[in-house]
Amino acid sequence: MDFRITEEQELMVQAIEEALTRENLESYFQECDRNHEHPHKFWDILKELGCFSMFLPEEAGGDGEGAITMLLVMEALGRCGTPVYLFWDHVKADALLENGTKEQIEKFMPLFFEGHPAYAQGFSEPTAGTDLSSGTILTTYTRRNGKVYINGHKHFISGAQGSDYCLTLAKNSENPEQLTLWFVPTNGPGCKKEPMETMGLHMENVNDIWFDDVEIEEKDMFSTEGNGLLATSKGFDYERLIDAFNAYAQALCAYEDACRYANQRIAFGKEIGRLQLIQNHIMEMAMRIEAMRDMLLRYAWNKDNGLLRREEASIAKQFCSESANIVVDHAMQVMAGIGFCGSRVSRIYRDLRITRISGGTGEIQTVIASKQILKRYR
Ligand SMILES: Cc1cc2nc3c(=O)[nH]c(=O)nc-3n(C[C@H](O)[C@H](O)[C@H](O)COP(=O)(O)OP(=O)(O)OC[C@H]3O[C@@H](n4cnc5c(N)ncnc54)[C@H](O)[C@@H]3O)c2cc1C
Repeated sequence: MDFRITEEQELMVQAIEEALTRENLESYFQECDRNHEHPHKFWDILKELGCFSMFLPEEAGGDGEGAITMLLVMEALGRCGTPVYLFWDHVKADALLENGTKEQIEKFMPLFFEGHPAYAQGFSEPTAGTDLSSGTILTTYTRRNGKVYINGHKHFISGAQGSDYCLTLAKNSENPEQLTLWFVPTNGPGCKKEPMETMGLHMENVNDIWFDDVEIEEKDMFSTEGNGLLATSKGFDYERLIDAFNAYAQALCAYEDACRYANQRIAFGKEIGRLQLIQNHIMEMAMRIEAMRDMLLRYAWNKDNGLLRREEASIAKQFCSESANIVVDHAMQVMAGIGFCGSRVSRIYRDLRITRISGGTGEIQTVIASKQILKRYR
């Protein structure tokens, strides 16, 4: 395996880092984080750099860049302290192309190119998180007079404020075993959405959505009836890998900030970086940063070559989300008071914790990976 990056990739990383350094958005990010606002200036830069079309499939007119490029882009965005966790909507495009109708593809695909939220994804409910079975999903669809009516309550739905639709998992009120996905409008009659309080991710919005007899049509079904859990599952492995890129990228920023700080901060007449106990923190971070990067490059290479195994995606997600949280904790300890009070490391500390929960909890990654691993030794 050759992990040297291509000239094109190098130029792209340089362009991202130069643009973000030039714009120096840190105080803007602090303001957006404080006010719970989407960072439009950052979004404009991503658009200018071509980041929205970069990973969209070639058959849809995108550049079709693969996982290694995605890792490098996210690494560059993370290193510059951006809310890289926002940059994942394009991941939905593969499932849309595979399962969407011509009309759905024509309606939503252009939004991915614009970086405009195409649709939120509504699986979770107050009664259903890890367990998304017909017993826990209470949202229903009912056919009446040639129309379809959605009733229920979705919970923890990312990005719903800016999206006009939510791809909603619902069960057939006449045959509850059938779980089906529907594109449901969220700005029309019968729908209410409200942002939830969150510990971090303040530049994103996470919502409750209530559907009260929201009228849709048969053509709004995504994939086939009863295929609601499988229609998007093919992309899950890649999504887990991207979750791991995201965790690593944010941790990298905290690590580099802490190293720079250790070289500058004077205590007892010398830089704290010369104290062995601070060097322990640097070493703990460096080991994990190196291990995450190597693992992710290898798995990204596997993905680009059609070799990514299910357990690898789960191992990456579990290892990187745990390691990233450990790294940011060490970074905070090195930076001490200034780390806690208003530095971007404190924001990353809050934003990273979710990586062990959403997109499948750490426990579920363990269940998935160990099942696959043990199968090989039967
Ligand atoms: C910020 C944020 C954004 C989110 N965005 C979205 C979104 O856009 N769309 C969406 O549909 N959902 C979204 N979610 C929901 C997210 O997917 C769930 O929170 C997650 O799947 C866990 O479900 P839960 O919180 O209900 O926990 P639970 O499923 O209730 O789990 C509680 C605990 O039990 C453990 N557990 C459960 N089952 C098992 C098992 N079989 N074996 C071992 N341990 C188990 C879990 O690991 C966890 O530790 C989001 C959540 C958050 C917090």
